[in-house]
Amino acid sequence: MSKVYNFSAGPACLPEWVLKRAAEEMLDANGSGMSVMEMSHRSSDFENILNGAKDRLRRLMNIPEDYEILFLQGGGSLQFDMIPMNFLKNGADVINTGQWTKKAIKEHEKFGKTHIAASSAEDNFTYIPKITNEDLDPDTDYVYICENNTIYGTKYKELPPHDGKRLIADLSSCILSEPVDVTKYDMIFAGAQKNIGPAGVTLVIIKKDMIEDRPDLPTMLSYKTHADANSLYNTPPCYGIYMCGLMFEYLEDVIGGLENMQKINERKAKKLYDYIDSSKLYSNPVAVEDRSLMNVPFVTGNKELDAKFVKEAKEAGLVNVKGHRTVGGMRASIYNSMPEEGVDALIDFMKKFEEENA
Ligand code: PMP
Repeated sequence: MSKVYNFSAGPACLPEWVLKRAAEEMLDANGSGMSVMEMSHRSSDFENILNGAKDRLRRLMNIPEDYEILFLQGGGSLQFDMIPMNFLKNGADVINTGQWTKKAIKEHEKFGKTHIAASSAEDNFTYIPKITNEDLDPDTDYVYICENNTIYGTKYKELPPHDGKRLIADLSSCILSEPVDVTKYDMIFAGAQKNIGPAGVTLVIIKKDMIEDRPDLPTMLSYKTHADANSLYNTPPCYGIYMCGLMFEYLEDVIGGLENMQKINERKAKKLYDYIDSSKLYSNPVAVEDRSLMNVPFVTGNKELDAKFVKEAKEAGLVNVKGHRTVGGMRASIYNSMPEEGVDALIDFMKKFEEENA
């Protein structure tokens, strides 16, 4: 078997520990005599998996009891609709930090007043705009942000002020990479396929007092439907939820919690940024104080050389380093599951490529 280091932005690599556990349990999960894929979602075996995953996540992220944990479907993209459908009454403030807030803005505008409180569009989203309460529209119900911008490699290091309004945040590409104070948010959501597990599960952590009875909405698009049914209103993505549970177990029992995960992530990212900053060939366009620990874009400044880099990296077993089509260049996504050896291998390759192409 030839294992590669996969720098994909998502679906992304998973820890070998998680994949091996899944393989061991593939034919007989927890003595049930069947695979998790074959289990009824109404069975006690599956309910134990679901509730076990929720309990682990509650401990890992220190989620208070007044927050509900939901496993939904439809990706981050369905949240761009469900959020305004459920919560937008007078209006929403959105801070535009790139493609994933632009898409959220587009959906919000279908449901009501959407005020763009700030934007870094004029600088191709290479920084996080800093706002004050004066930038917010006084009438809006909530402020919406994307905390880590997967495409551009920017990350909020401090949450924006939000003047007593609710705060809703897309953590798709940074969830579980470091401890967060859940009480500072009213809702967090994340597609699983970057830092949690396989595609097909969307994690929602939502303050219970946000969830209203909304019989006017399509049943599947009301958060209350899913909260009342413990994410079992309809058949959930059972296998994906099981994989998320294995990831939570790995983070808790193998890594030793999110403080440790943060240290590892900081060490990996620092190595890569330090090398890029010291190199004569590569540069990272992001404002230093806003750099992401998870997604590291870089360019050589020459499109042909970028393409050569991506091709030769692949031949060297370093795959999916091509930047997003809207920004070009390269991007290394170094989520929780990317081992430090993978980052070392990438830096070694970058050095060699720089020597050969200087
Ligand atoms: N938000 C962020 C920050 C993302 O990176 C992505 C996907 N790359 C999405 C939302 C959209 O997620 P999905 O494809 O699961 O709808």
